[in-house]
Amino acid sequence: MNELKIDSNLLANEMKNTFENIVGIHFEQDIVLDDTELIELMQIALNSMFGEEKKQQYYNIDTKEALFTFLYLTYEKNFQSYTKNDNALILLSTICVALFLSKSSAQSTQLITTLLKNLPGMSTYSSDIEPYLTSDDLRGLLFWSITTLSSLDYDLVNTMNISYEYTPPKITPEWLNTYRKEEDPMEFWFYNSSIGNGLFLILYTPKCRYAKCSGCNLPSLSSQSKTTSPSAVYKQVDTVLQNSLSHKEKESIKEMILSNNGNLFDIKTMPTLSLLYTINALIEELPSLEKIIIESRIEYLNEHQLKTINEVLSAHEDRNIKIEIALGFEIFDDEIRNGYYQKGFYKSALEKLMPLFSKYDVSLKFYMMYKAVPNMSTQEAIDDMNNVSKYAHELINTYDVNINIHISPTYVAVGTLLEKEFNDGNYTPPGPKEVDMLCQQLEIFDNVSYYISLNDEGLSSTHIEEEYTLFLDLKSRVGYFNSYQKWRTEEFQ
Ligand code: SF4
Repeated sequence: MNELKIDSNLLANEMKNTFENIVGIHFEQDIVLDDTELIELMQIALNSMFGEEKKQQYYNIDTKEALFTFLYLTYEKNFQSYTKNDNALILLSTICVALFLSKSSAQSTQLITTLLKNLPGMSTYSSDIEPYLTSDDLRGLLFWSITTLSSLDYDLVNTMNISYEYTPPKITPEWLNTYRKEEDPMEFWFYNSSIGNGLFLILYTPKCRYAKCSGCNLPSLSSQSKTTSPSAVYKQVDTVLQNSLSHKEKESIKEMILSNNGNLFDIKTMPTLSLLYTINALIEELPSLEKIIIESRIEYLNEHQLKTINEVLSAHEDRNIKIEIALGFEIFDDEIRNGYYQKGFYKSALEKLMPLFSKYDVSLKFYMMYKAVPNMSTQEAIDDMNNVSKYAHELINTYDVNINIHISPTYVAVGTLLEKEFNDGNYTPPGPKEVDMLCQQLEIFDNVSYYISLNDEGLSSTHIEEEYTLFLDLKSRVGYFNSYQKWRTEEFQ
């Protein structure tokens, strides 16, 4: 291969030209930091990602262009001694600056893609970066860039205090077929739980064998093989716990949602050995972990499984880890849930298992979809959520089992019956206004806990554009509610 030799000055000019063309700024500043200041700056920068307020608080730089210039020059100058060559220097600086400055992942992706396309010598990195860019996995990209492009000591990377809002990577069946490595899980991301930082981990295993629910297309993302070996799952768990999280992140995780986009208690898709190994590894590797939430349909659950999980927990008695089982309840109304929605979830089956949940001190999470079917008015959808709230309250009183209600505004998943209804004009997913109405009318019981899920995926993009201010306001109110289980005093009182 013919490698193009470029000297630092030429590279610096190329870099400047690229960014001057994109953001229309000139590079004139000359800032040098020592190593400690560099690390501090990186931590502040990474922690401030997506937070305009903090950026200004630290640097008092009030225009995006000025901040961009400041950081780009700072990174470029100070990464010099930590990178192996000029191309690595430019790429690392670009990635850090693009991630820090952009609120939108699309903008970061655009900046990085422009650099990859336009600067000679970058093609060697393109194939490594493509999986991150195509799935909007900017955290993954950051980790890749620090570990691959810099010569920073690995422990230093692990001790960096990276923590920022993180949404699920956008993956598709095609993405998984093209990029997923054998040892990778399907995906993972962080979320805020009522007890602190949470990690959502989806393991790659055979698909849900039920596969009938009318709003769900998750089985298309899972493995299409019929079986999996325990060791295939062990590798995925080890990859996440050993290579993909920093020490700080591991220390911060209080809660885990464990999923395979299907049923973790179905031994055909998740061997019991794999489940026990996963639970044990999570407890051993995450020192602050308090709760593990396991997703499954109810018919795969039996006493034997609860008993064996309890044996693993007893081996870590001093940690007092709680297990929660997350069930797709979706809609309270029996007729709609098991008729149109084809959920196949019966309250009688749940009530039969309640004494067992009580015996093994297992709590429950009910996944609910808000306005999940066509021909349901907003008021009917709110009443449906209030009915499940009352039902949970009564179950807790009878069986002394803790219950969390996890409400997601419905979104239209590609390839589902609901998508057909949407395309035919028979269905509109709930937007910020409808979610706002739910927040105002949701009947809250002291003994029930609640989580309202509000990510972009849960609301149609057209609604967000139309009602963006309301959406941002809702995000802040719902974030407070999820953490404190009450609305801020000025709201809904
Ligand atoms: S919602 Fe759950 S049970 Fe229903 S098809 Fe999807 S993965 Fe299977």
